[in-house]
Amino acid sequence: MNRETKHIKTSRTFTIIKKTSWVLVPIISVGGLFFPLLGLAVIGIMLALMMFGIFKGQYWCGNLCPHGSLFDRFYQKPSRFKKIPAFFQSPILKWLFFIFFMTMFIYRLIFVLGHREEIEFLPQLGSIFVNQYLVWPTIVGSFLALIINPRTWCTFCPMGTMQQIMNRMGKALHLQSKTEKYVTIISEEDCPHCGKCAAVCPMQLQPYKNWHEKQFKDEECIKCSVCVANCPKNLLSMKTLLHKN
Ligand code: SF4
Ligand code: SF4
Repeated sequence: MNRETKHIKTSRTFTIIKKTSWVLVPIISVGGLFFPLLGLAVIGIMLALMMFGIFKGQYWCGNLCPHGSLFDRFYQKPSRFKKIPAFFQSPILKWLFFIFFMTMFIYRLIFVLGHREEIEFLPQLGSIFVNQYLVWPTIVGSFLALIINPRTWCTFCPMGTMQQIMNRMGKALHLQSKTEKYVTIISEEDCPHCGKCAAVCPMQLQPYKNWHEKQFKDEECIKCSVCVANCPKNLLSMKTLLHKN
């Protein structure tokens, strides 16, 4: 991972799902305060992102995630658009936060399971998800998006880390070689190293300095195709593995 470039605001790439999935954020995190059962939708979201993690790396984050959709659609303009500080990009923070987040989640889950005869189980379970969804990616993520950069939260989001874990499993079992796509350069010789692909990358990665057999294999790439859409020489595309390791 290497992120040192002047970053510029540019249009993000949007599929229909990415344009609209942000609506789930207010539905679950605000609606869930009144109807806690809405929080159970997060179970479906977690299962889906884990499946995507196995077969497609962090494709979920760049193309489907409701919070990613919110950050890219609404926080681009108001964001101060600063460089994401090294602190947030640190693997130590990422893993410590993942452990903290999952421990908190499991502790609450055990509490609710242990008291299921005294309390209404499903609404309480839904409330756990609503609280996690509201406090962390919605409030903290939005705050960081506005004062630093839209995708700051994504650099240490525990659900991103979860996808990386699943993707490592997928790689170990060779499940993703035909499904995971990587940013791929047609010809390294034709690249003038203008750095535009790095300047527009929402995760502040640097594809043009990190080709491995013509492909960018950083596990933090969210497969959003913003670099592909912005390369002035049209050298980039998303392709499955060119060479199996
Ligand atoms: S944007 Fe295209 S031409 Fe510019 S450095 Fe990246 S790959 Fe090379
Ligand atoms: S390297 Fe390209 S595809 Fe990957 S996160 Fe950055 S802009 Fe998106």
